[in-house]
Amino acid sequence: MTGLVVVGHGTRSAAGVEQFAALVERVRRRGDIGDVEGGFIELSRPPLTDAVGALVARGHRALVALPLVLTGAGHGKGDIPAAMAREQQRHPGLSYRYGRPLGPHPLLHEALEQRIDAAPAGADRAGTELAGADRAGTWVALIGRGSTDPDANAEVAKVARLLWEGRGYAGVEPGFISLAQPSVPAVLERLRRLGARRIVVAPYFLFAGVLPDRIVAQSAEFAAAHPDLDVRVAEVIGDCDALADLVLERYAEALGGDIRMNCDTCAYRVLMPGFADKVGRPQRPHDHPDDPVGHHHHRHDHHDHGHGSVAVVGGGPGPDDLITVRGKALLDAADVVVVDRLAPQGLLAGLRPDVLVVDAAKVPRGPSMAQEAINEALVSHARAGRRVVRLKGGDPYVFGRGHEEVQACVAAGVPVTVVPGVSSALAAPALAGVPVTHRGVAHDVTVVSGHLPPGHPDSLVDWAALARARGTVVLLMAVDTIAKIATVLIEHGRAPESPVLAVQDAGLPDQRSVPARLDEIGAVAAREGVGPPAVFVLGPVVALATTGPTG
Ligand code: SAH
Repeated sequence: MTGLVVVGHGTRSAAGVEQFAALVERVRRRGDIGDVEGGFIELSRPPLTDAVGALVARGHRALVALPLVLTGAGHGKGDIPAAMAREQQRHPGLSYRYGRPLGPHPLLHEALEQRIDAAPAGADRAGTELAGADRAGTWVALIGRGSTDPDANAEVAKVARLLWEGRGYAGVEPGFISLAQPSVPAVLERLRRLGARRIVVAPYFLFAGVLPDRIVAQSAEFAAAHPDLDVRVAEVIGDCDALADLVLERYAEALGGDIRMNCDTCAYRVLMPGFADKVGRPQRPHDHPDDPVGHHHHRHDHHDHGHGSVAVVGGGPGPDDLITVRGKALLDAADVVVVDRLAPQGLLAGLRPDVLVVDAAKVPRGPSMAQEAINEALVSHARAGRRVVRLKGGDPYVFGRGHEEVQACVAAGVPVTVVPGVSSALAAPALAGVPVTHRGVAHDVTVVSGHLPPGHPDSLVDWAALARARGTVVLLMAVDTIAKIATVLIEHGRAPESPVLAVQDAGLPDQRSVPARLDEIGAVAAREGVGPPAVFVLGPVVALATTGPTG
């Protein structure tokens, strides 16, 4: 019979560890499962590796691993599968089926109801049990652990609702002891303003621990500040028969059922407002290649969902590894990548074979319709439910027209997010050994487009002011205009001998630097064949350039 390993995340609370061990023992004593062990991934003993090791030593090669968590958040989605992946490396051939988080479940709601009704009144108050009739005058603050994962927090809100339905409490409001809002004092204050006179704070926790203790402390503090209120704190769910029943149910489900996580509200799959950084973020290994059945669906690379979105991602100046971690994660999760010529091309080789790569330069368009056609491509792919990455060079907002794309998505009602990038304006000088600022040398750096030459009617640049300023000027898109720009800067007061460095193909294998005086840079760049992409950096910092490899 398939062995069960119950996996806890660990706690610094001795009472919590005892309750966990007692529950494992209770499940074992039921005798429904041949072999049961429990272990923790951190902080507490026994460690998971001992629990798995014991089961393997007794001949098990296939296990059910059940995360003893109420909601699917970081522990359940990432840490525990990662710990199991390590066990699989340790025990070649070991396979496991991964169980679902415990909640929401009627057994838990019944247990919570009992804890709430049994919540002891304060020392000076009579009566310890809420009679049924008292429920109408009782408000419940259901306090979850709290997570940076909105899906996990939503589960607590769902439990609050389920707990309220039909049970006769005046109301049940969710709150969180860490990482999420409302906090314990905030939810208690909310209930007070709703007119609550009696509040039971119910920790939505399996076992004792540091966080449940904190709930007690914060509730006591609130109660002390509001002596007119009856504030009680319920026990945690704890080791009990209902919990053992639920563990057995989740075990059976892992073996024979169809386990689905909340894929539709998973922040790793779909763009939730404010959580763009999570989309596509690689989870630590938690698909189970050894499991031929593959019953559980908690991989995050499905792309048959209906939640299209656009991420405008700055890819950095060119090399594959100067993109941000967030940008790379979104790229890895993309269904469609619309790419610019100056975006890091090497990254395209790493995309899944089924990803559609659209070369923005080749988007079909009418005359002078380039940007509109790109915007339209972004919107239409997203509307078709695809995760679109608009991969741009450098930073999307530094002369990248990135904001036009964002505006187009917003106008179309398509969820859009921006991921900043390492701009060539700062990176190219750095990669060539030039600091764009330096103490005592330059206290300002100005990034300027040289696309339109000085004197052009559409130019918005105050060249005379740049000439007067003493600091660093970085010119982009200036290969064709550098001679004219240099002349105008000198006319308005920059010293002709000011050092300039042209940096071409920064970060790429062909990177090169061409130095010259300001009055000679036009001629030198032309003679040396400086071509795009290149930046020109001008100012006293250029004299500080280190030579040799700096990238
Ligand atoms: N959004 C981009 C800039 C787009 S404008 C960024 O933040 O980097 C394009 C200009 O960027 C080019 O004309 C060139 O001046 C500069 N550029 C981009 N990549 C470069 C590179 N690898 N080396 C030097 N200059 C680069």
